[in-house]
Amino acid sequence: MESLRIAASKGLRDLLAEALSVGFFKVGQIVFRPTSDGFRLCHVDDEANADLQLFTNAEEAAGIALFDDANQYRPLKTAPNLKHGWELCVPDLKDLHLALDLLYPAALGNWRALLLKQTVSSPLRDTVNRQTGMYRITGLITDEEAQGLIEKLCQPGCLRQIQWPIPSESPHHIPSLKDLEIPLLCTEACCLLIAEARTTVKSRKPQ
Ligand code: SF4
Repeated sequence: MESLRIAASKGLRDLLAEALSVGFFKVGQIVFRPTSDGFRLCHVDDEANADLQLFTNAEEAAGIALFDDANQYRPLKTAPNLKHGWELCVPDLKDLHLALDLLYPAALGNWRALLLKQTVSSPLRDTVNRQTGMYRITGLITDEEAQGLIEKLCQPGCLRQIQWPIPSESPHHIPSLKDLEIPLLCTEACCLLIAEARTTVKSRKPQ
């Protein structure tokens, strides 16, 4: 959408304002809608619920993102296990931006880069070859092992769409976008995947 690209070229806040004006109200498991007093965010499953725990400070989004319904810590903010039962009401676009950033870090920035056709993703081979210290051995992971990890950890354990290829020389993936939804994109293997890569390499049986 051309208006989104123009807004994206100005900055993240402009992009968010334009997204709202054309009807974007969803990202991951969150809906955010304008109200008479600002914006209301909640879990998509709770949109029609009135009996929700009310938060009014955008920074409280960080706490909402920490634990799932069973009160278990969420190491991955884009895992499809966002807690239910809350609503966050914020007064303005600045606080909406902050809340979205705390719930889904870098979602807006990655979307902006996609709209502007900027390549910000890093092939897995480059990412593992950059590791130092105890993670240096992840550079030894094979493409097949890496593919297995993606299938185990990322699909369906994460809502982000992977943009990076495994080999450095392969083309980057073009994500599929849903109508009126801010996409969640993965531009680089996260620390959880790198940790799994280390475990995989270390657990190889001696030849
Ligand atoms: S590597 Fe990307 S897609 Fe996979 S779990 Fe981490 S953030 Fe999600």
